[in-house]
Amino acid sequence: MSGLIESKVHPFYSPTKILFGVGSASGVDEEIRLLGGRKPLIVTDPGVVKADLLDAVVKPLEASGLSFSVFSKVEPEPPARVVDEAADQFKRDACDSVIGVGGGSSLDVAKGVAVLATNQGSILDLCGMEQVKRKGVPKILMPTTAGTGSEVTRVLVITDESDNTKKVVYSIHTLADVAIVDPNLTLSMPKSVTADTGVDALVHAVETYVSANATPFSDVLAQSPIQWIAEYLPVAWAKGSNLTARYYMSLAATMAGLAFASGGLGAVHALAYPLGTEYHMPHGRSNAIMLPHVMKYNLSGSPEKYAAVAELMGKDVEGLSVREAAELAVEAVLELLEAIDISCRLRDYGIPEEDIPKLTEGGMKQSRLFVPNPRDLDEKDVRAIYEAAY
Ligand code: NAD
Repeated sequence: MSGLIESKVHPFYSPTKILFGVGSASGVDEEIRLLGGRKPLIVTDPGVVKADLLDAVVKPLEASGLSFSVFSKVEPEPPARVVDEAADQFKRDACDSVIGVGGGSSLDVAKGVAVLATNQGSILDLCGMEQVKRKGVPKILMPTTAGTGSEVTRVLVITDESDNTKKVVYSIHTLADVAIVDPNLTLSMPKSVTADTGVDALVHAVETYVSANATPFSDVLAQSPIQWIAEYLPVAWAKGSNLTARYYMSLAATMAGLAFASGGLGAVHALAYPLGTEYHMPHGRSNAIMLPHVMKYNLSGSPEKYAAVAELMGKDVEGLSVREAAELAVEAVLELLEAIDISCRLRDYGIPEEDIPKLTEGGMKQSRLFVPNPRDLDEKDVRAIYEAAY
């Protein structure tokens, strides 16, 4: 547990219901009925459609005679205009509920549509802390990646194309009424998506675990995901059809989502965001690149927690000092990244060294995330971390 944990009041956010398990997608029709939905808008992206994943949702809806519309134009790291466009379709097609099916991009757009159905304006007007005035229409979120945990968070992340930054809506009204987490839906993920999204879940668990905002809930919910991801991500990457590995990765991602939604994130996310917006790098990949470098920097701020991370990731820490054990956490992450073929060197992605000042400026724009980070950072530190990552 964290040092000052006893003197704090801890919020904990979660959806009303989580339906977890192999085959759980087949219950989507009953869940939408229980929520009073008669015509849901299914929100998804072209990759999910191409992977034939919509059948898992459409077939049960058709079998129980429910009508629905489909918006399948979600873009990765979704720009605000995509949310607004999907919300327009919701109104045009006279829908009354939302089902998000896909990775974090689709689920975040689905959350946005649900709140724009009952709140005026653009999704950009709702960014910030608890700016959403009215609860949205009923929504079910069904992840097809094992990464973001968006199905259980009160967060939705969009790209503001006017200044090329990520903007976040934090609101209890973005929480799912029902999250349906079916590992079957993740079996078709290609290797690179498996790797990127899996490390995203690890970043959620580790950042929350070492966070100054860690809570008794987030501590417990972060530990098992760290263990499962170290064990099962290389297996899911090596053999996509391995249902046991997919099962534990889905469980890890959802639990890590519950953990970070209450415990908060840190400098990995802050320094990863500019990589996403500047170079259109997938969210999970940009987090993966920054993770070992930020961990190395952070060790002195939370050595006991990092030592625990090392142990959870399978390192033998017996007889070591806390600092030595903590250093093994970085080693464990580097080994995991190597096993799933992810380079954590900026140069390997064609990013020029001259861009480090621009990245530093972008990272500093996310300095709100430095507050819960276990070690303070200033501009000089941010630049040094990017240089180390280069
Ligand atoms: P994504 O949703 O952008 O999907 C990545 C790609 O994988 C897409 O092309 C998609 O079509 C494809 N894909 C997804 N599932 C598949 C499957 N089963 N089979 C084949 N292809 C599949 O990726 P993501 O990493 O899940 O989401 C990233 C987004 O989530 C970012 O915008 C990020 O900022 C956001 N995010 C949100 C939260 C939150 O709490 N709301 C948390 C973390 C990240």
